[in-house]
Amino acid sequence: MYKTHSCGELQTSHVGQTVTLAGWVHRRRDHGGVIFFDLRDRYGIVQVTINPNLSKATLDSVANVRFEWVLQITGVVQKRPDGMANPKMETGEIEVIAQSIEVLNPAKTLPMMVSDDTDLPDENTRLKYRYLDLRREKMNRNMVLRHRVIKFMRDYLDQRNFIEVETPILFKATPEGARDYLVPSRIHAGQFYALPQSPQQLKQLLMVAGMDRYFQIARCFRDEDLRGDRQPEFTQLDLEMSFVHRDDVLEMVEGLYTEMIPAVAPHKKLLSTPWPKLSYKEAVEKYGSDKPDLRFGMELLDLTDIFKATDFRVFQSALEAGGVIKCIVTPDSADMSRKEVDALTESAKTFGAKGLATLAVTAEGLKGTAAKFVKPEEAEQVKKITGAKEGDLILIAADKRAVVNKVLGALRLILRDKLNLADKDLMAFAWVVDFPFFAWNEDEQKWESEHHPFTMPKIEDLPKFDTNPGEVLSDAYDMVCNGYEMASGSIRIHRRDIQLKMFQLLGIKDEDIQAKFGHMLEAFEYGAPPHGGMAPGIDRLVMLLADEPNIREVIAFPKNQNARDVMADAPSPVEQKQLKELHIKISE
Ligand code: ASP
Repeated sequence: MYKTHSCGELQTSHVGQTVTLAGWVHRRRDHGGVIFFDLRDRYGIVQVTINPNLSKATLDSVANVRFEWVLQITGVVQKRPDGMANPKMETGEIEVIAQSIEVLNPAKTLPMMVSDDTDLPDENTRLKYRYLDLRREKMNRNMVLRHRVIKFMRDYLDQRNFIEVETPILFKATPEGARDYLVPSRIHAGQFYALPQSPQQLKQLLMVAGMDRYFQIARCFRDEDLRGDRQPEFTQLDLEMSFVHRDDVLEMVEGLYTEMIPAVAPHKKLLSTPWPKLSYKEAVEKYGSDKPDLRFGMELLDLTDIFKATDFRVFQSALEAGGVIKCIVTPDSADMSRKEVDALTESAKTFGAKGLATLAVTAEGLKGTAAKFVKPEEAEQVKKITGAKEGDLILIAADKRAVVNKVLGALRLILRDKLNLADKDLMAFAWVVDFPFFAWNEDEQKWESEHHPFTMPKIEDLPKFDTNPGEVLSDAYDMVCNGYEMASGSIRIHRRDIQLKMFQLLGIKDEDIQAKFGHMLEAFEYGAPPHGGMAPGIDRLVMLLADEPNIREVIAFPKNQNARDVMADAPSPVEQKQLKELHIKISE
């Protein structure tokens, strides 16, 4: 055995024992002829003292030892002398007095420090040397946390009769709204597998197969532009259940998260249990977003009625065009500088507003850009509806409903960050339900499924399909938390006739329906049970629990923001011979 104990486990109870440790040199100090190493392994760090009266051979062998060399050390655990304990270290009350030391492997000078987080190199360097970056305590903690989250999920679902089933990675496109990664077939010239954008079809087919309750820690592949915080491949807790209604699925997942969060991240608080349930419409009207951050108030309030007879030209023209007037109240911000208000207005414009009107509630009455256009009775009503008190700043947008909601929703989040309105240890989970079934694609002038084409429409809305597609609601739901979409799911179509109609409505040609989804339609003819499920993302959840700013920090080997693996240098060219076998010619 290389070691009898881990570095991190040694305590005063081990004093007097002879132990063998193996690990990395975290730090080295020379103090008046005595050498100290901090030896590190995954479990922690312990101080090793090199006794100057060890044999000359041993002393010679450690003379050159530097950061990150791999050593095996045998020694006796000793309580540190009085006053020498280090309360910042888990093992700070003891040290190991080395008796023998073996260098298992030296290390070159490292391209980055791993012993502390100051002076970190740029992200590409960290990713190039990810195996070193992962040695850092924080990254180690993130990996352990991720493991615990996944383990908790597995155990929880196992106890509730779910079984984990692996589904193929080499498959056929499953539409989730992104581009596919394709894998050329050598055996079948000119044909391709697609990596699954999610196991959606397969999990539904497992329901047809009678599996009843399925889950998988599933990798999903989507070839999207990497705007924001995305990865070409990411991980979901994919699950599906048979003979369920919407709330059966929601209760299962809510139960899992409500038990899991305190177990894996005790410093996080849940905003409420049971979680709030908002309709899509409510979320958008109240928070200007279908993934609202519920950790703070500042809801969008409707002022349209108050300004029905306004003299303010800006408001008038919005109303004449069938628009609305809404506001948010920013606490204690009446004294916001002109420059700050201008910056908010600029932000509002990037989200589609023509401008932003302000009303500051001050001791001398209303101030701000809209103040001189507001009649006294309107001012009274504004104060009544908003509850704004002295010192508050009211930000008003007047435009088409969708624009107003989007703009105020975005400003709400900008102000959250600017004024520090949200507690970072609060996890404000909520459900958003009753999504519209279709989304209108303005560029291509056609209806697309808002979720995916396997989602069940609300049966009572079926008659609106041909007349009013925009009003059809679906049995789809999202789990949101702190302004992020954490999961989406739906009750599925399990009837062939409805599924076929859906594909047709989405404008898929008959021959394509057969070629792409013939297997699904056929499966539904052999006794498909009603079923539904969802797929919470794991990367983002761990990111929030670990207080990290992006998901790359909680993925062992992520791609960089250019979709490259800079460590292995992938993607990379391949040999001509391989291309030939795959029947591929690269066009210049
Ligand atoms: N397959 C969906 C997704 O990846 C989730 C689901 O409907 O279960 O977003």
